[in-house]
Amino acid sequence: MTAQTGSNPLQGSYDVIVVGGGNAALCAALSAQENGARVLVLEAAPYEERGGNSHFTGGAFRFAYRGVDDLISVSPSVAEADLANIDFGSYSEEQFLDDMFELTEYRTDPELCELLVRSSLETARWISRQGVKLEPGLGRQAYKIDGKFKFFGGLALHIWGGGPELLGALYATAEKRGVPVVYDTPVLDLVHEDGRVVGVVARAAGKHVRLHAGAVVMACGGFESNPEMRARYLGPGWDAAKVRGTRFNMGDGLMMALRLGAQPHGNWSGCHSVAWDVNAPAYGDLTIGDQFQKHNYPYGIVVNARGDRFVDEGANFHSHTYAKYGGEIMKQPGMFAWQVFDDKVTHLLRSEYRIRRTTKAVADTLEDLAQKLTGVDPEGFLRTVRAFNAACPADVPFNPNVRDGKRTTGLDIDKSNWAQPLDTGPFHAYHVTTGVTFTFGGLKVTEHAEVVDRYGGTVPGLYAAGEMVGGLFYQNYASGTGLMSGATFGRFAGAHAARFATGSTERAA
Ligand SMILES: Cc1cc2nc3c(=O)[nH]c(=O)nc-3n(C[C@H](O)[C@H](O)[C@H](O)COP(=O)(O)OP(=O)(O)OC[C@H]3O[C@@H](n4cnc5c(N)ncnc54)[C@H](O)[C@@H]3O)c2cc1C
Repeated sequence: MTAQTGSNPLQGSYDVIVVGGGNAALCAALSAQENGARVLVLEAAPYEERGGNSHFTGGAFRFAYRGVDDLISVSPSVAEADLANIDFGSYSEEQFLDDMFELTEYRTDPELCELLVRSSLETARWISRQGVKLEPGLGRQAYKIDGKFKFFGGLALHIWGGGPELLGALYATAEKRGVPVVYDTPVLDLVHEDGRVVGVVARAAGKHVRLHAGAVVMACGGFESNPEMRARYLGPGWDAAKVRGTRFNMGDGLMMALRLGAQPHGNWSGCHSVAWDVNAPAYGDLTIGDQFQKHNYPYGIVVNARGDRFVDEGANFHSHTYAKYGGEIMKQPGMFAWQVFDDKVTHLLRSEYRIRRTTKAVADTLEDLAQKLTGVDPEGFLRTVRAFNAACPADVPFNPNVRDGKRTTGLDIDKSNWAQPLDTGPFHAYHVTTGVTFTFGGLKVTEHAEVVDRYGGTVPGLYAAGEMVGGLFYQNYASGTGLMSGATFGRFAGAHAARFATGSTERAA
């Protein structure tokens, strides 16, 4: 199935073939087309499941901004918001860089990271010109205190309607500009002549087809959907983790590029993984999207089968810890945990805690709750809660908009912020396991998103974007950076592939 009717797109001739159908691929395709190339998009998934992990996103989109004027330059509708009662603050490039360096324990590739951060505002403006709408993330990244919203995490604008609307807008623009998309057509291999990539072999309607192009952009995800590769690279046990998103990111694009001599880069034993409902299906469900996630643990405690806490739930805002705490659940007996809250914080929990398909226990007393936490030692749990409650400071006010310093003292693992005793029923708890989002290992690329070879040269004609770019994320991740990385490197990859394929000397992205 294609986005266009009429002639068979697989018989056309193209300057740039884009492999994949998610955010990075569509940004690459639109950017290549803007730069004068004839472009073809090949998507492994059928139409109904198109869009990869990007389709599952809630739409967090991280970019640097100096103040509200920059936000208006991305989304003019921000000017109509109740600006007197919203404090957007600012999020400087330096803060974004600091977040990336701190979260990755100073291992992020400095050149790629700098490129990502310093072009992030322009990328936000560019994606908005492609028809994608952005809106303030009120209630997700800012709570209302004394009648005023204050943003706390650097994620002022979200993509309106999340992944489905993001993809809807990008595909609509591609269709309007005459960029053909062929679904159900996985790319199986790269075609090369004397080391230069000149096309792909794909499987279309059960047959292998060889397609020629002046350049190829690989934007076909990591290896998160492939249990064999998860076990091989991430380690034992990861094959049993649930996958939050698409079933199509099998790591094939990475393997094709590596076979051709591409240089592996980044954290191949690392991935983004979160607390995910224990009864979620093995792969993502587009009717639920990202709502199996459970990200509000900073306002409660998290216990394992022994009833013990095992992380500092309040180490930072969830956007700084959620992507690595999934991996901590993986290490617990039975690979599960329970997030426990009291009624004081019920109003702070996001919509994902209220969907029907939530594995939940509720009780008026902690003793009754202890009996309902499947798999948990009740005595261990009650001991943990009593010790935790006794360690919470009474004299520090609770404030969810800032790291409030309301910290326990004297516990084996202290809770650094938001430590309120669990003392107000009804108590509610959520049963979670590890949900893999995407893998961090990828290919090394230049500032033009060209793929670098093992010996420091480039693989002529081959570009990469999105999850396939290695080196940005190590062990942890700043929320909203996946979509920004896909859009940024997609934009660069498309523009430079177009330039390479058409021989244009015009300035690219
Ligand atoms: C539940 C969930 C929520 C998320 N929320 C956010 C968020 O709010 N903000 C954020 O920034 N990030 C978020 N992320 C991460 C984000 O989705 C990814 O970082 C980003 O979308 C990756 O984009 P991509 O285009 O590289 O990959 P994808 O969107 O996964 O696209 C890869 C594409 O390649 C196709 N493909 C695979 N193999 C082949 C092949 N051999 N041939 C042809 N096509 C192939 C796939 O079908 C797919 O269309 C979330 C992820 C998940 C799973």
